[in-house]
Amino acid sequence: MKKVLIANRGEIALRILRACKQLNLKTVTIYSKADRHLMHVKLADEAICIGPASSQKSYLNIPAIISAAEVCGVDMIHPGYGFLSENADFAEQVEKSGFIFIGPRPKTIRTMGDKVMAIRTMQKANIPCVPGSNGALDYDTQKNLALAEQIGYPVLIKASAGGGGRGMRVVYHQSDLLSAIATTRAEAKAAFTHDTIYLEKFLEKPRHIEIQVLADTHGNVIHLGERDCSVQRRHQKIIEESTAVGITKEQRNAMGEQCVLACQQLGYQGVGTFEFLYEDGQFYFIEMNTRIQVEHPVTEMLTNVDLVQQQLLVAAGEKLPYQQKDIKFIGHAVECRINAEDPRNFTPSPGTVTLLHIPGGPGIRIDSHLYRGYLVPPYYDPLIAKLISYAEDRPTALARMRTALDEIVIEGIKTNINLHQKILLEDDFNEGAVSIHYLSKKLK
Ligand code: ADP
Repeated sequence: MKKVLIANRGEIALRILRACKQLNLKTVTIYSKADRHLMHVKLADEAICIGPASSQKSYLNIPAIISAAEVCGVDMIHPGYGFLSENADFAEQVEKSGFIFIGPRPKTIRTMGDKVMAIRTMQKANIPCVPGSNGALDYDTQKNLALAEQIGYPVLIKASAGGGGRGMRVVYHQSDLLSAIATTRAEAKAAFTHDTIYLEKFLEKPRHIEIQVLADTHGNVIHLGERDCSVQRRHQKIIEESTAVGITKEQRNAMGEQCVLACQQLGYQGVGTFEFLYEDGQFYFIEMNTRIQVEHPVTEMLTNVDLVQQQLLVAAGEKLPYQQKDIKFIGHAVECRINAEDPRNFTPSPGTVTLLHIPGGPGIRIDSHLYRGYLVPPYYDPLIAKLISYAEDRPTALARMRTALDEIVIEGIKTNINLHQKILLEDDFNEGAVSIHYLSKKLK
């Protein structure tokens, strides 16, 4: 393997570029017309403009990306996160065109992308799921009323093909169930590929805890512990940390081992994340992400495993250099997602960065494509930087994060830095183990 095409933009494209360079792999990057000034475009060995600013015509344009790979003679394609990273058709096209897709097999992506299929697969692998319909909802109204009654209100109606927090509806009373089912089904039909919906118990105070896995193509699988991503706004994660407060070594090992077994059963390859809701000491599977996640750096800081390098190596057919016993969970890591957005109403805040000061000191890492003079375009995700702190324990990691947040300066655009500063001073957050509803309650 000699050459990798990076099919993404922003901080993750730069992160992938760094991993490639450290492994002496040549890099080709694609970019849209709005992105020619991105840091990684300047640093890549080759860069190809594949279309206009609109993602549909550039970062989601499968034929254009495959053509770029052919023209540059690459060996592998890294999809990053978002865009085409969980698109099974793309993974299939990449393979059919003779390249290696850096990720699991298209079939695995397809299974996990359909929530009903994913839940069924997990149940077979003994992964605990949220009590619910255990499959697609029927059209029989009496059956559905009886099912919801048996599970107990509130219940959640979800679209099987939904994603990004869309296609879900909470029902608190029996009188609202049938209309909620009809509306969710109609919305799913309009917004997604099919109108399959399912029902599950709505958990009222869960935490979001996820398990990172890594698998090679020889059947070796390890887990890299958990991340707590409960600080969210509108289902978008804002702060992530590892380890999760209150999760014991025994719980971590038990849940991690279950995920490893599930991966072996699935023939999983590459990195992946099992997302769970955690309430009253129980884990409930909600979905699997078949790609690298935004929050992967907290796991890297804790375990000293470079997850992006490992993605490249296992995709190239190498055996995992680690066994489970080599993975140690020492210290604590926290990540704050810095977004270009107006702190009052959370609308995107594009514009030119007129001043930039990057914090430092022991245990501080920043993953960002920003530089002074960079124009944050209005077309894409507002994530502009990930600030990560690491220390021997949680209070010290949080103290380092507070100092870094006080030091960082980004001028010319609005950001959510001040929101992070406030959260890091909150008693509840400092105590730890807040639920997924914590931030929305605070914002009210
Ligand atoms: P998506 O693919 O849209 O992210 P998920 O199934 O991961 O869908 O759910 C998104 C978010 O919705 C979760 O992170 C959680 O905050 C909330 N959620 C999902 N299922 C439940 C549930 N059964 N009870 C309570 N909240 C839920």
